[in-house]
Amino acid sequence: MLFLFNRNNTINVITCHIVKLMNDQQTKCKELQQEIERLKTRIAKLKESTNQNLRIKEMFTAKDDTLEKIFRIAPTGIGMVKNRMFVEANPLICEITGYSRKELIGKSSRILYPNDSEYEYVGQEKYSQIDKYGTGTVETVWAKKDGSLVDILLSSTAIDINNPSKGTIFTALDISAQKKWENEKQNSADRLKIIFEHAPDPIYIIDLKGKIIDGNIAAEQLLGFKREELIGQSFLNLNLLPPKDLAKATKLLAKNVMGQQTGPDQLTLLTKNGQKISIEITTYPVKLNNQKAVLGIARDITQRIQEEKLRHEREQRMTFHVEQTPLAVIEWDLEYQVKEWNPAAEKIFGYSRAEALGQPASFIIHSDDLQYVNQIFMDTAMHNNKRKNINKNRHKNGELILCEWHNTPLVNEEGKIIALASFGLDITQRIRSEEIQKVVYNISNAANTSISLNKLLNHIREELSTIIDTTNFFIALYDKKNDTFSLPFFIDEKDQFNTFPAGKTLTGYVIKNQTPLLADKQMMRKLELRGETESVGSLSKIWLGIPLKIGEEAIGALVLQSYTDEHAYDQEDMQMLQFVSNQVSQAIHRKNTEEQMANALKRATEADQMKSTFLANMSHEIRTPMTGLLGFASLLKNEKLNKAERFNYLDIIERSGKRMLGVINDLIDISKVESGVSEISICSFNLNDSFKYVYSFFKPEAEAKGLELTYSCAFLHEKAFIETDKEKLYAIIINLVKNAIKYTNSGSISFKYTILNNNINLTVRDTGIGIPKNKLDTIFNRFVQAGTNLSNNYEGVGLGLAITKAYVDLLDGKISVESEYGKGSSFSVEIPYTKGQKADTTKEKEEIENDTNHQYKPKILVAEDDVVNRKLFSYLLKDVADELIIASNGAEAVAKFSEMQDIELIFMDLKMPKMDGYEATRLIREKNKEVIIIALSAFALETERRKAAQSGFNHYVSKPVGKADLIKAIKKYFNI
Ligand code: ADP
Repeated sequence: MLFLFNRNNTINVITCHIVKLMNDQQTKCKELQQEIERLKTRIAKLKESTNQNLRIKEMFTAKDDTLEKIFRIAPTGIGMVKNRMFVEANPLICEITGYSRKELIGKSSRILYPNDSEYEYVGQEKYSQIDKYGTGTVETVWAKKDGSLVDILLSSTAIDINNPSKGTIFTALDISAQKKWENEKQNSADRLKIIFEHAPDPIYIIDLKGKIIDGNIAAEQLLGFKREELIGQSFLNLNLLPPKDLAKATKLLAKNVMGQQTGPDQLTLLTKNGQKISIEITTYPVKLNNQKAVLGIARDITQRIQEEKLRHEREQRMTFHVEQTPLAVIEWDLEYQVKEWNPAAEKIFGYSRAEALGQPASFIIHSDDLQYVNQIFMDTAMHNNKRKNINKNRHKNGELILCEWHNTPLVNEEGKIIALASFGLDITQRIRSEEIQKVVYNISNAANTSISLNKLLNHIREELSTIIDTTNFFIALYDKKNDTFSLPFFIDEKDQFNTFPAGKTLTGYVIKNQTPLLADKQMMRKLELRGETESVGSLSKIWLGIPLKIGEEAIGALVLQSYTDEHAYDQEDMQMLQFVSNQVSQAIHRKNTEEQMANALKRATEADQMKSTFLANMSHEIRTPMTGLLGFASLLKNEKLNKAERFNYLDIIERSGKRMLGVINDLIDISKVESGVSEISICSFNLNDSFKYVYSFFKPEAEAKGLELTYSCAFLHEKAFIETDKEKLYAIIINLVKNAIKYTNSGSISFKYTILNNNINLTVRDTGIGIPKNKLDTIFNRFVQAGTNLSNNYEGVGLGLAITKAYVDLLDGKISVESEYGKGSSFSVEIPYTKGQKADTTKEKEEIENDTNHQYKPKILVAEDDVVNRKLFSYLLKDVADELIIASNGAEAVAKFSEMQDIELIFMDLKMPKMDGYEATRLIREKNKEVIIIALSAFALETERRKAAQSGFNHYVSKPVGKADLIKAIKKYFNI
């Protein structure tokens, strides 16, 4: 551009110079002509002077004085030489040559010539002309006294034409000025010609009719015509211009004719070979040889036009790109203020172009990065560096935007930086997605490592905190069965929960609808008004909950809330969390499953271990009494035994039997509990009586071990009636006291009850061996013993406390233990207290006592398949039966009853071959509804007892049975 401009200037200067030169030339031509005129006059005068000389010569001789005067004042140099020696010289000669008259007279005229050849040339020329014409005129050069040269027009004539030896008279005219001007004129014309010819632009001269007078080389080259083909032709006839341009050129010529300069104007030219060229033409009216003419200077701008077109197209494309690009294109001046601002910048930063122009860079740069960006700008501007950087920016609405910038200096033609351009790409979303991907990856990674669920949740929170505010954050796991949430992870500025019912909470709403919820205060109120939710806990300004789903099932929710900023979360956060939640669900699920599996494995291992322990223990607990039983039973066969020994053995056999029965009872009780058939049977009874009974029952055992046994009751006897399951409560107290005695080797055992907050609190305290801390949680489990070592010397299979706890649970109570290893234990049971009615037990007692006087003996049938039991029953009942009939199965019993209709009482075993007790009873009852039938069962289950009652039995006795049990049962119906 600058080049073109300069080139233009240059051409213009050349053009002006040419015009000036031509004008100067014209002026000088005029002056020259005037000078020529003057010279002509002078030459004429000279001739006149020569003639005068001749006349002087003539007069010379006559009028010496007059001549002398003329000689002195003549305006030309006048002198006389004889034999080429100065004879005379007038003052002007002296003036021209710088020699004095004295210095010249008598000297050879050679002194006035710069060299011999010039001297010779002048002599020959002069004398040959004098010979021919009588006078001779020669242009020569004289060397002045000071050595400088002077152009001289020398005219000589012989004093005596017939006798040249008389000498010649000459006039000398200093023509140096004229010569110099002529030289200059020639030089100038030459220069002009060179310039004209070699000017890079085509130059032409036409007359006012359009006829081409001259043209330069460039013009020839432009048009492809030789100069000879152009000169003398009118451009109007040369088909140099298409019609439109021809008309235009004609108009320009018309202006020239009016004496006007034109241009620059654009024209299209057709070259000789028909090629179209664009030119820019400037014309000047000029005078040439006193004729009006037109000087035209053209320039081939075909390339320029092409370039301009390309540049224009490029500019348009650039503009289009800048307008359409998604990159923010911003131009900053050197004060870092906005100079340009494209539509993408408007979109990214929210400021219109008008708002942005003139703003300092700080208006879109986040304060955190201001210094950093300034440094980058300076670096770019001062060191001409292209710099790429990422920094935080701010949208007009205050939102944070991350941009990747490419900064580049804008340099002018001289290489000077005039502005900065910044191209910015909004990478907020990209970075955010990368961050989210990273979070997802890290969470999934964490789930794969062996950290615990709790650590994983903490990790999830830490990860999420990199992309969202997690000040108030919890993960709620949903328990569908109980419709509650457990909170394995809960961080909150205001509330503290471990669990909460799902109910109508917002979290519950998220779970039920299985969709995320972003609720501000208004939304929360709306949901409440619609009855869909109820507020629980402190009210937040915004609440965001995302369901954690595995497949179609929501296993929980991830919740964020803010108590201070209602804009803390938006839809975008919700979407992002939804995306992340999948990973969170998977991670939690995986970790949960892992932990469950680990727990299951642990339980299985423990169970396996327990099973082994249990089997070993059970074996021990059964074999030990069995050894006693069998061993002493065989010893009894020895007839030599005395009575005391026999009693002793029998006592051991009885105790061994009881011990085994205890084991079996425990097993049955726990089976009952576990199979869910253990039921509650509520009745009123006196708790003080139960305490007293337990005390009496264990007193001998305690004393035998040297232990002090005490008890205390909260109520006086008459107020101690309570309503609960007597047998279960009794079993609870028995178990605890039995354990206390078992696990205490010295000291005391005390048990008591108190009433507090409508609860009965039972406590059994001992100074025994205590329980290690790590066993406290497990001793209530089945088959668990604090000292699992078989060598610990304590009887038991580890079921007592499990049964006790099951009973406490059945009574809606709680059991706990405090213990110090080696010092003692304290078991506490808390069950609801319901005041009971005083039962008339005294009457029953009296009746039984009185009835012992009656001596009625009923006819009894015993149906029992087991030989031993049949034998036992025969012995036990022989004294109380009038007649005892034995049947070994149900069918036999039915048959015998049919034979002997007077049978009054039947003891019917339930489980028998051929026909069981139920079927036999049913058949008997078909014939007789009166006969008393008492079931004998080893099942010892409540359901069995109930079933028996419904199947026509009058009563139920559990095996093993002793004489007292049988008598007690019979006495219910007969006064035996
Ligand atoms: P066991 O048949 O072994 O007594 P329990 O279920 O009654 O079974 O008790 C479980 C375990 O609890 C016992 O093996 C014993 O280690 C511990 N234990 C129970 N009661 C006491 C107590 N009063 N003092 C110390 N240890 C006790």
